[in-house]
Amino acid sequence: MTTSNIETTPVFFSDIEQAAQRLDGVAHRTPVMTSRTLNEICGCEIFLKCENYQRMGAFKFRGAYNALSQLDDEQKKCGVITFSSGNHAQAVALSGKLLNIPATIVMPKDAPKVKLNGTKGYGAEVLLYDRSEEKREEIAKEIQEERGMVLIPPFDHPHIMAGQGTAAKELFEDVGPLDALLVPCGGGGLISGSAISANHFSPECEIFGVEPEAGNDGQQSFKSRQLVSIPTPKTIADGAQTNSLGHLTLAVMLKHVKQMLTATDDELIRTMFFLYERMKLVVEPTATLGLAPVFNKNLDLSGKRVGIILSGGNVDLKALGNLFSTI
Ligand SMILES: *Cc1c(COP(=O)(O)O)cnc(C)c1O
Repeated sequence: MTTSNIETTPVFFSDIEQAAQRLDGVAHRTPVMTSRTLNEICGCEIFLKCENYQRMGAFKFRGAYNALSQLDDEQKKCGVITFSSGNHAQAVALSGKLLNIPATIVMPKDAPKVKLNGTKGYGAEVLLYDRSEEKREEIAKEIQEERGMVLIPPFDHPHIMAGQGTAAKELFEDVGPLDALLVPCGGGGLISGSAISANHFSPECEIFGVEPEAGNDGQQSFKSRQLVSIPTPKTIADGAQTNSLGHLTLAVMLKHVKQMLTATDDELIRTMFFLYERMKLVVEPTATLGLAPVFNKNLDLSGKRVGIILSGGNVDLKALGNLFSTI
């Protein structure tokens, strides 16, 4: 376990508003879904912000497009590079395609096929690495310096955080103030952006971050108020298999987040099964992190109005049968 100090570079709600303008007409304004059955099970009124219907299948398009569209002409010409287990890769690839910026993506060999193929399909150059042996940051840095490309990090960047905050902005605009907002958390880009939007629209709203139990570095960092790094966790929530939060995301989280929670893989599968069977919602395991604590009764929000971000839907469909047969 290693720790390092926190620095603060804030993202303001005005940055999220500007991101929303850049994304207007480019990103989808995704629907908010409700279910009486779900409300009965959870004992509260739940609003699901369905980012599984976002372009490329996850909220990550918001941050990536917001970041890429702010590069200057010289930077756009040299292109961008990033590392990602999947959705950020596809987000940068698609944004690069739309903005005519060449994109190179460093991806783990064991990333879900659906995400690998999606990234290649958007025309990006994909470089594969072995999660257990190589550090993706180092590989990306080497190529970045060699080719003069701009590195687009997956979460710890003000433009990424501001872009991700536009999803919660839309949610509050659509449903009004909420008592609680639950957000899946990997590196913390989505939750920090969401928290800044929540703070603007609904200052009383309590923000909960949810991580896979096997990788609770965020919970540890939140408790110790220092960045804690862990080895890559083993979990089906591949979008939250991060080693640590970022400096910027942790700073925002310490300010605005009420509590960091965890969910087991089993709880994620049960939650996911309900979303498929009852709500016909195709979501990926990571996307169910937000709903899992309420659905599995680990968090009591009785009688409250609760927002939940369903963060994405890029799931390996062929693996689903096996997954659901385990519960
Ligand atoms: C990346 C991702 C997350 C986690 O987002 P962070 O900004 O890294 O916290 C959650 N869900 C899905 C579907 C993702 O792709």
